[in-house]
Amino acid sequence: MTLDAAKLRREFPILDQLVNDEPLVYLDNAATTQKPQAVLDALTAYYQHDNANVHRGVHTLAERATHAYEGAREKVRRFINAKESAEVLFTRGTTTSLNWIAKSFGDAFVEAGDEIVISYMEHHSNIIPWQQLAARKQAKLVYIDVTADGFLDLEDARRKIGPKTKIVAIAHVSNVLGVINPVAELTQLAHENGGIMVIDGAQSTPHMPVDVQALDCDFYAFSGHKMCGPTGIGVLYGKRAWLDRMEPVEFGGEMIDFVNLYDSTWKELPWKFEAGTPNIAGGIALGAAIDYLTAIGMQTIHEYEQSLVDYALPKLLAIDGLTVYGPQDPAHHTGVIAFNLEGLHPHDVATALDMEGVAVRAGHHCAQPLLNYLKVPATARASFYFYNTKEDADRLVDAILATKEFFQHGPI
Ligand code: PMP
Repeated sequence: MTLDAAKLRREFPILDQLVNDEPLVYLDNAATTQKPQAVLDALTAYYQHDNANVHRGVHTLAERATHAYEGAREKVRRFINAKESAEVLFTRGTTTSLNWIAKSFGDAFVEAGDEIVISYMEHHSNIIPWQQLAARKQAKLVYIDVTADGFLDLEDARRKIGPKTKIVAIAHVSNVLGVINPVAELTQLAHENGGIMVIDGAQSTPHMPVDVQALDCDFYAFSGHKMCGPTGIGVLYGKRAWLDRMEPVEFGGEMIDFVNLYDSTWKELPWKFEAGTPNIAGGIALGAAIDYLTAIGMQTIHEYEQSLVDYALPKLLAIDGLTVYGPQDPAHHTGVIAFNLEGLHPHDVATALDMEGVAVRAGHHCAQPLLNYLKVPATARASFYFYNTKEDADRLVDAILATKEFFQHGPI
């Protein structure tokens, strides 16, 4: 099945605007995606009709809000094929999810001398919580290499994941190299060595089917705002076997069963982790985003985006002086395309593209260790979603060519 991107994009009101007198081409989807009308409507409908606090109230609005919020949790469960909705924790996003694992699992299970294995291509959110944990526990942080052609080095992973490994934490898809990592193999390696597998799904969950049971990972983290949902809501999936044995990271209302003067007991999963009034509207709207994506089909989205990469990547690689980071073969590159133009700073490139109405990102993409590893201070990055079209790819290529021309010869 294929999708009609031109039709779908009309459901995203923000995309219908001029930027610097040009129709907007939004190619910063790895940073955040735009929201369809259905998601905007879900947010408004909740505040207009159902707004009430969840779990505590007995009145009608409270019941409606609770039903919708817990219904959204069940939608997430189905979306990632978790065994039970108790394994789906709502968080603020991937960063919070990863911090919770590092704090809660780390405090309970990591000991001095244990090893935490990550890779050179991780986002800062999948580095710093582990640095902090390693420092707290006198554990060792170990980095898996990236090959010269932009893949995670599985041979190196086999060398580095061993009996001392307690945690392996790897991005499913790199937010710079655009490569899909072999997370199922890494999970198996981690388990064979008695460790657990944490997957940073920030760049995968929005773009491809994810099945946490098939992957057999112990934890999986992702953000609502990168998959048509609102900001401030995300998910931490964890196997019950671990979550049951972990302590909450935050304490307060909503997460308790009984509060005595000097001690308290916690609610059952998932609520024991969710202290305080949650992001109710965000959870409900994430549920609407999941409905929206599911109606299109995650496999359809994945295949369509790959067809865009098949189209765009060779055109970009054909531009003289343009370097693309990560695999050069479209078959191994997702819609996250980081690049540089010889002799130009990526910030200048992104500013020039913006003048043509093309929104891309420039900078270190929260992956400074990777950029140091690649020996580049920064890159520009175009990132596609299912509402982008081949025309958008053409506009990107034309704008890059115009930018090159401008900086070589001045305005025409
Ligand atoms: N990991 C990866 C791979 C990412 O791309 C991002 C977002 N750029 C994050 C983690 C952090 O996500 P958030 O800012 O939504 O917490």
